[in-house]
Amino acid sequence: MILPEGAKYIIDVIEKEKYEAFAVGGCVRDFLMERPVNDIDITTDAEPEIIENIFDKNHIKYVETGLKHGTITAVFDKENYEVTTYRTDGKYSDNRHPENVRFVKDIKEDLARRDFTMNAIAYNRKKGFVDLYGGRSDIENKIIRTVGDADKRFNEDALRIMRAIRFASVLSFDIEESTEKAILKNKELLKNVSSERIFKELSKLLLGDNVFHVLIRYREVLAVVIPEIKEMFDLNQNTKWHIYDVWAHTCKAVESAPRDSALRLTMLLHDIGKPQCRSTDEKGIDHYYGHPKVSEQIAGPLLKRFKVSNEIYNRVMTLIPIHDAHIGTEKKNIKKWLSKIGEERLIDLIYVKRADKLAQNTDLVKEELKNLEITEKLTHKIIEGGEPFTVKDLSIDGNDLISIGFKGRVIGEILSVLLDKVISGELENKKEILVSYACSLYEDKSTNQTL
Ligand code: ATP
Ligand code: MG
Repeated sequence: MILPEGAKYIIDVIEKEKYEAFAVGGCVRDFLMERPVNDIDITTDAEPEIIENIFDKNHIKYVETGLKHGTITAVFDKENYEVTTYRTDGKYSDNRHPENVRFVKDIKEDLARRDFTMNAIAYNRKKGFVDLYGGRSDIENKIIRTVGDADKRFNEDALRIMRAIRFASVLSFDIEESTEKAILKNKELLKNVSSERIFKELSKLLLGDNVFHVLIRYREVLAVVIPEIKEMFDLNQNTKWHIYDVWAHTCKAVESAPRDSALRLTMLLHDIGKPQCRSTDEKGIDHYYGHPKVSEQIAGPLLKRFKVSNEIYNRVMTLIPIHDAHIGTEKKNIKKWLSKIGEERLIDLIYVKRADKLAQNTDLVKEELKNLEITEKLTHKIIEGGEPFTVKDLSIDGNDLISIGFKGRVIGEILSVLLDKVISGELENKKEILVSYACSLYEDKSTNQTL
């Protein structure tokens, strides 16, 4: 394995003092899978005070990030390296946090406390890979398997359930049979895990390559943390537009959206109001009148519960209620949308609509997909060409209107009338043209005609 210079150096200085140190966990797994390696975690038999002494001696900067759990973060070349003493976790009282941790001397014990075999491999240049639980063979066979008894491990820490299905989505691995059984058996324990931690895993899960399969197969697990999705399960849609039930359509729409947390969350929740809005007409065709608004109402408190960032909240809550709205393929329609929701949100909306269509009856949506492409191209053209679509883009402003004689609230109204005319192409965005039109409105107004 090729370690970054910082990791090599840290391991070297620890070894020089006759202690052991290995890269461990996600970085080793990702290296073996030929995936980009993110942060390097280092595990060592030296206790935290000794590590601090070694770092001081070698002028390595560090922060005491989790001393209680034996973790010190070394900062080397602007990279962070978490250095944690071999430990074994004490009794778990709340399905999440060990009551205490005990430092140990044998790496075997440290690897045994790790969640999955693929995450329990250590490496250094001296000893090569230390793989005591079959992690490499599981990685080769694309299998997620707990280290030790699955039932016990999920009982200790229920977050591991979310981690398992997150890895299944991100790495496209299968979950080994007894591990899967234990996940389904213990899923209710996820209720004891904080919603922030659940959400962190959920957002990674939503971005995975294998998200469709995981959302379908582990829907009962997700329903523990998001009970609101349950009513979508197996809800048939008897309409020519749909070939999937509401949940399968949702999963397909998530998969079809760009890899962006807000967009994938939007797709996860866009039809969550459908069960409440379902009606069947005399021909047996299903309708879901008003569902985008109801989905918005359900999504709001749900997102608050997960304490999502304001940025994500605002994006998702803007997009859900308009996911079914028609944008149109003419510049004037697009400019109206641009003035209403702005550039970024309109581009989001195009992605959302495309993902929604891709999860419908593909034979019938070809035309709509083509139209979305036209809309997308025109949107970029308008933005890049600096074409006017907000009041600010007009070559006339409030002061010009005051000079003509307008006062107060009317100024805003006139500007928006002018913008409409510019967007529809009736008026050119030239100052003299807009001033002259405004003057004509002023005369009309003075003779008491309405605008
Ligand atoms: P990621 O790619 O998300 O960083 P990771 O496996 O590195 O994946 P981290 O949360 O960074 O995940 O954890 C680092 C290592 O710590 C894991 O590889 C695993 O060995 C161990 N670990 C993390 N969380 C748990 C847990 N809940 N139970 C047991 N071991 C865990
Ligand atoms: Mg990691």
